Amino acid sequence: MLKVEKLIFEIGSAGRKGYSLPKLDVPDADMKELIPEDLLRKSEAALPEVSELDCVRHFTRLSQLNYSVDTNFYPLGSCTMKYNPKINEKMASLPQFADLHPYQPESSVQGMLELLYETEQMLCKICGMDAFTLQPAAGAHGELTGMLIVRAYHTSKGNPRKKVIIPDSAHGTNPASAALCGYEVVAVKSDRNGRIDLDALKAVVDGETAVMMLTNPSTLGLFEKNVRQIADIVHKAGALLYLDGANMNALVGIARPGDMGFDICHVNLHKSFSTPHGGGGPGSGPVGVTAALSDYLPVPRVKIKRNRFILDAESKKSVGRVRAFYGNTGVIIKAYCYMKSLGGDGLKDATIEAVLNANYLKARLKGHYALAVDDEPCMHEFVLTGKDKKDFGVKTLDIAKRLLDYGFYAPTIYFPLIVEEAIMIEPTETESKDTLDSFVETMIKVANEARSEPGLLTSAPHSTPVRRLDEVLAARELNLRWKRPGA
Ligand SMILES: *Cc1c(COP(=O)(O)O)cnc(C)c1O
Repeated sequence: MLKVEKLIFEIGSAGRKGYSLPKLDVPDADMKELIPEDLLRKSEAALPEVSELDCVRHFTRLSQLNYSVDTNFYPLGSCTMKYNPKINEKMASLPQFADLHPYQPESSVQGMLELLYETEQMLCKICGMDAFTLQPAAGAHGELTGMLIVRAYHTSKGNPRKKVIIPDSAHGTNPASAALCGYEVVAVKSDRNGRIDLDALKAVVDGETAVMMLTNPSTLGLFEKNVRQIADIVHKAGALLYLDGANMNALVGIARPGDMGFDICHVNLHKSFSTPHGGGGPGSGPVGVTAALSDYLPVPRVKIKRNRFILDAESKKSVGRVRAFYGNTGVIIKAYCYMKSLGGDGLKDATIEAVLNANYLKARLKGHYALAVDDEPCMHEFVLTGKDKKDFGVKTLDIAKRLLDYGFYAPTIYFPLIVEEAIMIEPTETESKDTLDSFVETMIKVANEARSEPGLLTSAPHSTPVRRLDEVLAARELNLRWKRPGA
């Protein structure tokens, strides 16, 4: 059944009101005396005219059209759409946190500063880093901060260097962040399983290499086994190694970026550390560094001085501020609660179960969809390819759209770019076996439909509030404003 909800302008009728106020008991003001005439509108504003109940029902119905991790399974690869415990929301919205003002004197926000300090300490422990900043507002912002640190570090040694090496499987934000910092991006080839080709790497690393940005596990869901050799190659040239930590859900409690030879890393609190995301934020992308780079971190830093927590802005080498105040504290509080409530063992279990769930899905789906890489154990996600379905005139996009008809959010598609017709699946640790099984059954059903009735897929979705959108037109001709008919 198609659910359709009209715009609020299209329901209701002229003169209907959603409020009841007592009659004015003071003289009605003459607007022309209060506001210059040229600023007064000539005709009445075209506002919706609905009753309170119409209004409540309209927005409640709209809210029910939303797809969310609270309603359905969200196997979006590289995004870690796990369940976010509601208690964390409750903690973050305590007035003692939520009503703080960033200009309050430090003496009145000691608790908040302590929480930030402890969060940094926990992230240091998880990542094997020596210092963290919580300022960056997202992963991409963390990358930019990391590149600024890289540039400051090399500049202090006399030469900012020119090149940033990035694997061809990387997320698009990696080259974007490097380019924003004025670096030339050099792509390095991956082997057939998406791992770095060491010979190809050796051929591009030289004295002008500033940093290599690496994602581990890679965006193909496999652990970069040669990470120590990669670190050696990069370090030997005097360059640094940066971890895009978007895939920390496969590492937390098990393996630490610092031990792998990374000098800098970012983590996405809104992925691995259980903060709701999707729909554009807010996010948080803390950046960790080794001791040798800690002086370059953005200011202010949370420090302890004479038994008090302070925000210390004194640093000659710092790259400066990358954001107003000290990060998206609402997100940080949720991540803090998540880490504290799970504890070390709980975080480790979460990682193990995330990896187990991904391997279970992969094992059940591989007879029905081709694997993008050799069949070896994956980490917390894996990549399929829909290229064999092209024989039936079906693309990965069609498979994704058909899944919506069955109530599943589509996996990530067409990423990583090096996989033709990529389908990237990440179940996370928070899904039950029942949910995983019903996703598998649906994926198999869709694979069978591709063969027997491809038209069902190419015209999907059929049961969503809006049918398939013309994405090119939608991006080129934005039409976001309602106009009163005839206006
Ligand atoms: C999500 C992601 C990013 C970017 O993080 P944002 O928080 O969305 O800015 C970078 N790299 C990878 C591999 C990602 O999955």
